[in-house]
Amino acid sequence: MKREHLIKPLLNHHYPKISFGKGVFLYDDQGKAYLDASSGAVTAGIGHGVQEIIDAMQEQASKVSFVYRSQFTSEPAEELAKRLSDLAPGNDYWSFFVNSGSEATETAMKIAIQHWQEKGRPSKYKVLSRRMSYHGITLGALSMSGHFTRRRRFVPLLEDFPLVAPPYCYRCPMKLDPTACGQSCANDLETVIKRIGSEHIAAFIAEPIIGAAGGAVVPPDGYYERIMEICKRHEILFIADEVMTGIARTGTMFGMEHWGVQPDIIALGKGLSAGYTPMAATLAKDHVLEPILNGSKLVMSGHTYSANPLSAAVALAVLDYIEDQQLVKAAEDKGHYLRAALTKMSEGHEIIGDVRGKGLLAGLEFVADRQTKEPFPASKSLTTKLVERAFSKGLLIYPAAGGVDGEGDAIIIAPPFTISTEEIDLLVERLSEAITEVSQEVL
Ligand code: PLP
Repeated sequence: MKREHLIKPLLNHHYPKISFGKGVFLYDDQGKAYLDASSGAVTAGIGHGVQEIIDAMQEQASKVSFVYRSQFTSEPAEELAKRLSDLAPGNDYWSFFVNSGSEATETAMKIAIQHWQEKGRPSKYKVLSRRMSYHGITLGALSMSGHFTRRRRFVPLLEDFPLVAPPYCYRCPMKLDPTACGQSCANDLETVIKRIGSEHIAAFIAEPIIGAAGGAVVPPDGYYERIMEICKRHEILFIADEVMTGIARTGTMFGMEHWGVQPDIIALGKGLSAGYTPMAATLAKDHVLEPILNGSKLVMSGHTYSANPLSAAVALAVLDYIEDQQLVKAAEDKGHYLRAALTKMSEGHEIIGDVRGKGLLAGLEFVADRQTKEPFPASKSLTTKLVERAFSKGLLIYPAAGGVDGEGDAIIIAPPFTISTEEIDLLVERLSEAITEVSQEVL
């Protein structure tokens, strides 16, 4: 084997080299085109090679690319914080800029803990999350994640934060009929709070729509209203992990807008800079920051590259582009078109159990039997096979875990908001071919 130096996700796998990207396509150095139906890792929301972003990047780089946040602030960072506060539900947020979604959720956890410390209640430090959840790969973020396969190797180093039932009506974790369950998955939050004692709990974190740990699982109406009521009554902060759903992805600027929720803290990443530079953010409402402002005055977190002016300028240009091109509305409209096409396609594929999602965050879950919803055995590696088969056909899709404890198969389809209806037709055609071929292997 040839000596290599770059650690890739799979060390023994060959990854093509990408030469350039334009719109919804990436092109490798052999000239092969890939339709980016996953926006990479649900990131490249405005597509590849957008000239306006390249121009903004060049302009900022020609002024200054880096300043250290403990020495200086910068115009783009200040402006981005103001812009995000204006856009976020309720409009009264502070921003803490970081470089990845994991850092954003971990910073959210730290701000929540510090909020209670500065209020003189240091015993409130646990962060509740849901069994089906992924909040990032760093140890704090993993401690809040239910994603078993990503946690397993590091369990001795993780906080054993309690997990709550997910709002997953396709396979109700409470084994109830979703039309008559009385929001029992939301009520499970209260059960867990009572067992542990709210005096030990700082926050509850949830993805508005469950991403990698579920495949675009949308909660039932009324779920978040109940969650917010429980959090408020027990004095627990609500953290919305909008790393995947944030910035137009679901047809609204923030995923939580679908349910009229104003989270106490919001984590953003991925779509904030649409993949052009690393940029993520933790937004905290005035009332969350207040005890810190009146107390130590220091949010105890930070990274060398936090609030990087170049990345902030890129994020501002991405927000401008989304507004100028009306891409929030595009994500909603194209999302309807995509889900209708996927639903129609599913009629011809017995192994598709569920089609779901909102805006341009769509999910498909696969089953061995549609009636019983029995998943395929893990030994069939259905999701991996499907992602690989689609890849060979020049179609990028995102793998997810299906099933409450990750025992099932699901994928996410999340193309850039700029995708045309003709490109969606091509996407569905290639996906359908890949599913047909994989079905023949697994059935
Ligand atoms: N939170 C959610 C909901 C995510 O989907 C992800 C990544 O997939 C993360 C956090 C972690 O983000 P990053 O990979 O940028 O660290």
